[in-house]
Amino acid sequence: MVIGGFQKLTLIDYPSKLATTVFTVGCSFRCPFCHNPELVETQNFASLHKGKMEKEFFEFLKKRKGKLQGVCITGGEPTIQPDIIEFIKKIKKLGFLVKLDTNGSRPDVLKKIIDLKLVDYIAMDIKNQPKKYLKTAGIAVGNANSRSILDRIKLSVDLIMHSQIPYEFRTTVVPGIHIPKDFLEIAKWISGVPKYWLQKYEETKILDPKLKNKTKNKKLDLEKIKKSIEKHFGKVEIR
Ligand code: SF4
Repeated sequence: MVIGGFQKLTLIDYPSKLATTVFTVGCSFRCPFCHNPELVETQNFASLHKGKMEKEFFEFLKKRKGKLQGVCITGGEPTIQPDIIEFIKKIKKLGFLVKLDTNGSRPDVLKKIIDLKLVDYIAMDIKNQPKKYLKTAGIAVGNANSRSILDRIKLSVDLIMHSQIPYEFRTTVVPGIHIPKDFLEIAKWISGVPKYWLQKYEETKILDPKLKNKTKNKKLDLEKIKKSIEKHFGKVEIR
């Protein structure tokens, strides 16, 4: 595993649990609004000794047995790590619950993780409505893979919805990228999910600084968006 770091204690990343959050390095997407650019632009981590941070992480976890309940694995995109399954198994063996954050680009890996019952909670990003998905995720539309990427996202959504594992979907709402109608399309697509989060966009640290030209003077009313889609979900929350 290539790990960029871990946050020893989080009260918010894992719903209703005291947890630690571990950040994996590298991502299959390039969302311009990404607030973890250091985990996406992996050359910053070229000098990392593979395994060094992982060793530190497990030493820490062993000391927190009985004190923390869960581990939230986030990134970057955790499912692109070749040894993600072994990594989760090691965490589970220590007795922790596991929450996985994913962008849904690797349904094959997700399926294995679900089938092996390795996770206790899944959170997946819904970047935008299907027609605008790839552009929103920073993927060149029309490249040889773009069609299959969207298919993979849809497959991940289906897998999660039918997994029997508690889950949530969430969208970072970016003025200049999203318009209110996009959320109606998203709601139609993932209609029936128990929990959908609208996340406020923060412009403090983002992957593509040029995005600021697009977002300038643009606003979206999250309360209004929430009201417009509520009937499709068990619960819609803003954070
Ligand atoms: S926001 Fe996009 S680029 Fe950043 S880690 Fe998530 S999927 Fe990757």
